Amino acid sequence: MTTAMESSQFQSEKMTFSVLSSSAPVMAPRVGKLALAGRKTLSTPHYIPLTSRGTVPHIAHDMLRKETALNSLYIGLEDFITKKSPSPVYNVPVSEDESPLRRFICASDDMPLILAPRRYPAIPCPPNNTDTSIAILTSVGFRQLPAHQYLDSVRSLKPDIAIGLADIVYGREPGVKRRAKMVDRTHAFTQDALERLYGKAVPAEQKASAAYFAPVLPLDNAQQSLYLDDLQDELKSRISGLALYESASLSQIPESLGALPRLLLSQPGSPHDLLREVSLGGDLMTLPFVGECSDAGIALDFTFPAPSDATVSASEPRALGIDLWSADNAKDVSALSEGCECYACRKHHRAYFNHLLNAKEMAAWALLQMHNYHVMDLFFAGVRDSIQRGTFEEDMRSFTRVYASELPQRTGEGPRLRGYQLQAGPHKRGPRVYGRLDDVSQKFAESQSSIATPDTDASGLEHHGFAQKA
Ligand SMILES: [Zn+2]
Repeated sequence: MTTAMESSQFQSEKMTFSVLSSSAPVMAPRVGKLALAGRKTLSTPHYIPLTSRGTVPHIAHDMLRKETALNSLYIGLEDFITKKSPSPVYNVPVSEDESPLRRFICASDDMPLILAPRRYPAIPCPPNNTDTSIAILTSVGFRQLPAHQYLDSVRSLKPDIAIGLADIVYGREPGVKRRAKMVDRTHAFTQDALERLYGKAVPAEQKASAAYFAPVLPLDNAQQSLYLDDLQDELKSRISGLALYESASLSQIPESLGALPRLLLSQPGSPHDLLREVSLGGDLMTLPFVGECSDAGIALDFTFPAPSDATVSASEPRALGIDLWSADNAKDVSALSEGCECYACRKHHRAYFNHLLNAKEMAAWALLQMHNYHVMDLFFAGVRDSIQRGTFEEDMRSFTRVYASELPQRTGEGPRLRGYQLQAGPHKRGPRVYGRLDDVSQKFAESQSSIATPDTDASGLEHHGFAQKA
């Protein structure tokens, strides 16, 4: 069956989003192009690579440029807020139109930068948000980020896209009263931000250059209907996109806002979740599972559409990834995925990865990250082709049949966790790496009474276990 394809275009001064093919304005998969002045154009649906303090974890800048196709960066402002005031990111010398943030993190000139108040995924903060600020976790602890400071940062750091401030409750389900407060505050944050960044009273040279993505809260339609109404009436002319905190919100987008790009800050746990988000009309996704798999020594191994050959058996679904910690890989000299042309697969084989992980070599995570993002590049290219061919629903069903429903379980150790990756409060300590030495010191203590001294003879040394013959 073929469906009539629609196209639409949203245009603002700095950004154009063209929907090339879609069967409906909302709740349907669509292919588009997001073009920002002077930056790489993003074909959508696509993902936005997550950064930690301005870099994609494990990947050095030169490798990112030469050996990956990563074409945008998600950056959390809380990563750059230090005790020093103002933080160094605000003091980078730049020309008038340049972005100090871009200079500070050494991102290339054509890389689209997306700034949000918080990292993604964000760690729940013990302090509560207030009417005028949100709680954040900086490199030196928790504090409040006043709304006006975020807006000043959007204006001065000049990202290409700014994600609006929202009153989000992390780590627990908010109660009824709290939810009402979330809507009121987010509504007020958005109104205030649009007025201060782009309002009539703002002189032309002080208007923000960033495109503003208004937050949509992870709540029912009824709860935030006043806010959504205001977005499509009063505020529509000043917003350039929507940032959604759960995929269910895709069903709440009014048709009149259908032309705006939709960025999802949900937590897809697998490629199946991603496909569902795409099928509901998601344009840009954030994928924490890619970094989590790389850290766990797991190489992603799937394609979209799924292979249709005889190697696929209905009783045994294909794994979505390979656990390189597994001893099965210790002597396997094949590539991570068959035919993969990423840097890691062109140069190395599975056995080498198994060795690197066992030796706790950082190269393992760097190479895996490059491979895993490459798999996602091909996956999204396949998704876009499939939507344009009109076979997306069918391809999605066969993907579900062919592949396991979940990513492989983590078995090995990852790199050391940093403070911003840990939940606040008491957490389990890892196993003691130097436990082995306890045995030695125990034996040493036991032998104190008859310790070998420099003047002991050969038999004395032998008694203490030195030069023992096998
Ligand atoms: Zn590869």
